Amino acid sequence: MYTHFADLDSRLIVLSCIEDANTLTCVVTVVSKTGRCPNCQYGSHKRHSAYMRVIDDLPIQGKSVQLYLKTHKWFCTNSFCEAKVFTERFEWLLPHGQRTVRLDAALRVIAFSTNCIEAAHVTRMLGMPVSHDTLLRLIHTTEMPTVHSPFCRH
Ligand SMILES: [Zn+2]
Repeated sequence: MYTHFADLDSRLIVLSCIEDANTLTCVVTVVSKTGRCPNCQYGSHKRHSAYMRVIDDLPIQGKSVQLYLKTHKWFCTNSFCEAKVFTERFEWLLPHGQRTVRLDAALRVIAFSTNCIEAAHVTRMLGMPVSHDTLLRLIHTTEMPTVHSPFCRH
């Protein structure tokens, strides 16, 4: 299980886990002494506050995984930056996302493999339940390469 989270972020520390028949819920945190302002890329050592984010991740042995991520807000100490406070960012998590990038990628593959009603059944069976509306939203927000037909004359 800990390897599962180390693959996500090597700095991730599991504080506690609770398991029931269908779900594994873990409280995790990332140890960092600095934050990088997404606006000016300036590093900050001045912590503002801590807060909790609830995030879904890939299932473990068919059980849904829900992470309670304790993360931080930081003061931007660059006096020329417009952002006075910023939230910690992670490569494996979209800034306002409620699921990990790897879970999002898996759901997009499933969404594109069949119709969204069937895909919703598959995601439920695999331990990453989402509604068919969510899968439709993923399809609509996936960037697709523009392919020109060889038969088109324009
Ligand atoms: Zn800044």
